[in-house]
Amino acid sequence: MDKEKYFQELAELAANGDTVTELYKKISALVMKHISEEDKPKRCVHYLSIEYLIGRMFYNNLMELGILKETAEILKSKGIDINVFEEIEDAALGNGGLGRLAACYMDSGAAAGIPLYGYGIRYKYGLFRQKFEDGFQKEMPDDWQRYGDPWSVRKDHERLIVRFSDFTATAVPYDMPVIGRRINTLRLYQAEGSAEAEKICGVLYPPDDTEEGKLLRIRQEYFLAAATVGDILRAYESRHGKNYSHFAEENSVQLNDTHPVFAVPELIRALMQNGLTYRAALKIAKQVFNYTNHTILPEALECWDAKLLKKILPEIADILYKMNVSAYHVHRTEGYTAEEICRSAIYRRGTFSMANAAVFAARKVNGVAKIHTSIIKKELFAAEAAHHPEKFLNVTNGVTPRRWMELADPELCSLIDRRIGRQWRSELSELSKLSAFAKDAEMQAGFTNVKTERKKKLFAYIAEKEGVALSEKCMLYAQIKRLHEYKRQLMTAFALLRLYYELKEGKIKDFYPSVFLFGAKSAPTYFRAKGIIKYLNEIIKKINADPGTNHLLAGVFVTEYNVSYAEKIVAAADISLQVSTAGMEASGTGNMKFMMNGAVTLGTMDGANIEIAEAAG
Ligand SMILES: *Cc1c(COP(=O)(O)O)cnc(C)c1O
Repeated sequence: MDKEKYFQELAELAANGDTVTELYKKISALVMKHISEEDKPKRCVHYLSIEYLIGRMFYNNLMELGILKETAEILKSKGIDINVFEEIEDAALGNGGLGRLAACYMDSGAAAGIPLYGYGIRYKYGLFRQKFEDGFQKEMPDDWQRYGDPWSVRKDHERLIVRFSDFTATAVPYDMPVIGRRINTLRLYQAEGSAEAEKICGVLYPPDDTEEGKLLRIRQEYFLAAATVGDILRAYESRHGKNYSHFAEENSVQLNDTHPVFAVPELIRALMQNGLTYRAALKIAKQVFNYTNHTILPEALECWDAKLLKKILPEIADILYKMNVSAYHVHRTEGYTAEEICRSAIYRRGTFSMANAAVFAARKVNGVAKIHTSIIKKELFAAEAAHHPEKFLNVTNGVTPRRWMELADPELCSLIDRRIGRQWRSELSELSKLSAFAKDAEMQAGFTNVKTERKKKLFAYIAEKEGVALSEKCMLYAQIKRLHEYKRQLMTAFALLRLYYELKEGKIKDFYPSVFLFGAKSAPTYFRAKGIIKYLNEIIKKINADPGTNHLLAGVFVTEYNVSYAEKIVAAADISLQVSTAGMEASGTGNMKFMMNGAVTLGTMDGANIEIAEAAG
């Protein structure tokens, strides 16, 4: 990027009378004009995910380009505070941890200079927006494109046709730059061509309690898979024609959970259409795909009714049947017992198990924390793990220190930089050098100061947004994550009640003033989770209204928890609550964001908490 030219054009930008949204679009467009995506090398990794929880792009992109400070100064000279763009809300094309992980991987691929290309769906509506009415969650549609989408480029000339038995959809790519040491691309496909087609990318996770809903989800997953495979094949064929002998050495595809697994039968289908036998196509597929498992919860492992699938994707259903037969023969030759053969079957009792299809096809299968990987090896995929131990490996989740430290808390980062330099941004283990300063009084005071300032900022924001006044002279406990019974916000509710009554009865002496902060969205149809939100809101109302104790104990349940809110909260919190039922949280990533920002974890030995405890002591 030619920074000087950009600064000059920014300085000359006429901004008088622009609304925040107009200005946001103008500056973003100016930055986009000055960067260019790098050529896609012939060897690269493709990352497929049904969700990307990207968060706000503006500040992160400017930071990655190294122009955030100067841009702020130039805008200031025009009388514009760069913080006004906080009004532009997050692109929440995801639900929670899995989607945020995808976004963090994209960031880290670019930062490490790896050609990593993301593929997903450009939903018209992201995760619902949330408010509370009388303590109950109310959902509103998230029309994220109302601010425009200046960080995407529509690539009409690279569109593809995706075929279902009843209609076809045009997949139009929108490319977003992912900025780091190199500039990669996150390609989100939009479905066009008819009202039916447009419905495919209407919303993330449409309800699937009806047949129509299930069909729509199948269409979404296949749409993503077919567009991606089509794109990869087109690039490959432009170099090699229909000779696929180099395909596997040039292409690797990472499946983020089971939603994109249709990419496997789709690749086989496309290769067969181009003249390969089923066997030859399967052989190539088995060298290309890798699969990340994210959960052992059965409701999150895709299983599709074979009849339904056959209705709209007969060829794909046929290939899955064929794969089931192949798996059976391979497993029998390899000495699987009858029970093992049954457990790892792709077709079972009228349904296709996409997880078993992924494990059969994948070169490598990974869990997302040591304990989770050991559970999938012992339970979920026990048969495959017993016969193919080399196939399984652990890759503990991670989060980017650039967004979650540098962007979230620049003051903390300069405190660190002064002690150990800047290298930790790309080599996080460097942070262990900080242990030499643990007892350094100046470091301790600096750290306490930074936390207090962050709390002040967070509480000012909360006062404005939620109408709750809080004092920064407190210990801040935070539990922010999707609302789920296994995550046990309900247990924290009981703890809060107990603290409250014991304080009231004078049973606890010497209590440091504490604030409990919650942030969570509940799935709209998850009745118990919504009940827990109401319950917590009632408890908080009661505690905050009690003049006898509210100088000691207070609570807040923030609305509309998202990536931008998380950035503010992880920087301010003292205690990170990670209290899932042991064995249930595959990894967690929220736990890492807090730990990076110097909060103490109060948690169960679950997921990545175990590895964090080992590393942190
Ligand atoms: C990190 C993150 C999550 C995941 O949090 P967990 O505590 O790992 O469940 C969910 N939502 C948002 C907005 C996040 O930033």
